[in-house]
Amino acid sequence: MTTTVTLTGTGVPIPSPGRAGAGVLVRYGRTALQFDAGRATVLRLTEAGTGLHELSALFVTHVHSDHVMGLPDVVLGRWIQDHVWRTGPLEVHVPEGEAAGFVARMLDPYAADIALRMEHVQEVPPETRLRTFAAEATPQEVWRDGEVTVEAVAVHHEPVPDAVAYRIRTPDATVVVSGDTRVCEEVEELSRGADVLVHEACRTTALREAVAGTPFEQIFSYHADTVALGGLAARAGVGHLVLTHLIPAPEDEAGEAEFVADVRSGGYGGRVSVGRDLMTVTVG
Ligand SMILES: [Zn+2]
Ligand SMILES: [Zn+2]
Repeated sequence: MTTTVTLTGTGVPIPSPGRAGAGVLVRYGRTALQFDAGRATVLRLTEAGTGLHELSALFVTHVHSDHVMGLPDVVLGRWIQDHVWRTGPLEVHVPEGEAAGFVARMLDPYAADIALRMEHVQEVPPETRLRTFAAEATPQEVWRDGEVTVEAVAVHHEPVPDAVAYRIRTPDATVVVSGDTRVCEEVEELSRGADVLVHEACRTTALREAVAGTPFEQIFSYHADTVALGGLAARAGVGHLVLTHLIPAPEDEAGEAEFVADVRSGGYGGRVSVGRDLMTVTVG
């Protein structure tokens, strides 16, 4: 069997053509794990050939809207089609705090729609199987099904509280999904020897002067500088570094090459991919 890692979205809050909001799908056989659900995640999952009924669980990295605004769409879509697939509600794993609060409340604005649908077709109301855990500085297991495990560790996306990265282990692969974070020791430790590290990427060093004194300077301060990220990937011995959540979004291959050059200048000589939506990496 193989493990596949598919980018369901490589974008950021400012929209750019062809880039859905943050999301990564990890599949191992019938196990399908989705990490974050930004803008248009349902569309990308469908294009990737994974139905909402096939999702085993969904994991949220943090409460920023670009990582969760597609989540009601996933949950409601799965509920609406449940009279066909009969898979029941989705487990959503979330750090305690604001992200958990968002998930608990996210269907409230749809109350009228839910009531109307229940008058016609739906037998039971939608349910989100909310599973919360404390974001901690050392990795802890948050999900397990047979040979596949998911661990979470707190990362550094301050001022956003309770942001986490995840490590997925299958019999043939170790995959890390950074979520949003500065380059940090926690992700470096989590990624030691990983086959694939899907990490957010921001061209902080290259654009330092251009953004000085603008709101982007503050935004860049809590994202991962691509040069420092190259150092992290080298020290951790990552097999394949996949860049996502690209700031600024490259518009062509020359723009992508700049991200790769940053990572190289940081010291990483391994395989690098600059993410595009639906890019899939296979391990095993
Ligand atoms: Zn964020
Ligand atoms: Zn983000």
